Amino acid sequence: MKALVYQGPGQRSWQEVPDPRIQSPTDAIVRVDTVTICGTDLHILKGDVPEVEPGRILGHEAVGTITAVGSAVQNRKVGDRVLVSCISACGRCRYCRDGRYGQCLGGGGWVLGHLIDGTQAEYVRVPFADTSTHLVPAGVTDDQMLMLADILPTSYEVGVLNGTVRPGDVVAIVGAGPIGLAAILTARLYSPRTIVSIDVAESRLEAARKFGADVIVNPDTESARAVVDSLTDGLGADCVMEAVGTPGTFEESIRLVRAGGHIANIGVHGAPATLHLEDIWIKNLTITTGLVDTYSTPTLIDLVAAHRIDTAPMITHRFTFDEFEDAYDVFSRPAQTGALKVLLAASK
Ligand SMILES: [Zn+2]
Ligand SMILES: [Zn+2]
Repeated sequence: MKALVYQGPGQRSWQEVPDPRIQSPTDAIVRVDTVTICGTDLHILKGDVPEVEPGRILGHEAVGTITAVGSAVQNRKVGDRVLVSCISACGRCRYCRDGRYGQCLGGGGWVLGHLIDGTQAEYVRVPFADTSTHLVPAGVTDDQMLMLADILPTSYEVGVLNGTVRPGDVVAIVGAGPIGLAAILTARLYSPRTIVSIDVAESRLEAARKFGADVIVNPDTESARAVVDSLTDGLGADCVMEAVGTPGTFEESIRLVRAGGHIANIGVHGAPATLHLEDIWIKNLTITTGLVDTYSTPTLIDLVAAHRIDTAPMITHRFTFDEFEDAYDVFSRPAQTGALKVLLAASK
């Protein structure tokens, strides 16, 4: 088969590799029908994730069809259409028993495209198939389902739920990339009073409007704090979500929140950020961070199936597998290409 192989920092290729085989009785082999690229894959390619070894097949999001199951798989069978979640779960360890699958101690967690070969391939071996895949319900398209592999549960769990968004809240979301936009979509489920989207890219702010932001702010031209103050009698936002992952955007998030408010960090950070405890100790803030657990994926699937959220507009570009190199190129230059999420299909 062919797969997108990481060859060390800055190097990748769509190339011939051996087909995956069942290695453990709880495995399934999935023929990948549609797959996407994550910002995290770009971090890997930059060399920011040193655990990823050269030769690794990248990717942790896919929709596909099961072609083989191990002898211990009970709830999946050949022919099932499934979502392959970015998080695998052994289902038995202390963390899995607590619904914290991202921290799985039994060989799951974020392993696909990280510690084991991933989904950017014609076939992928999925460990713990019973607890690491979700059946695709009738009436839900691949486009919609694919967004539930990572960005929707990540923004919902790590942003909206950790940030405890409540009806009537003023919610500020720093960053309008795919995660920030998914945070807008899922924050709306809780009827906030106002959603403020903050980004320096005008094309992303326009997208934020389409996804439901009430107010958009480009901090290059106006002060986000002044805008939030004007909406909150100078108090600050009830909940601020950090969806970028830089020291500056984290520190800005702290400046935007009200006393007693929540800062939910979703961004993946590669450098230290300063926490001014000498200023904020007195403000009764709650700061949360997190890797997604995907415990919310079944809920999100139900919401998509019931047309309560539409994830399909997240996909801005479409490719076939033989155009993988082009897809990476387009996805890695969003300022020029306007890319949010790119979808790659086995065939057109
Ligand atoms: Zn991801
Ligand atoms: Zn586990």
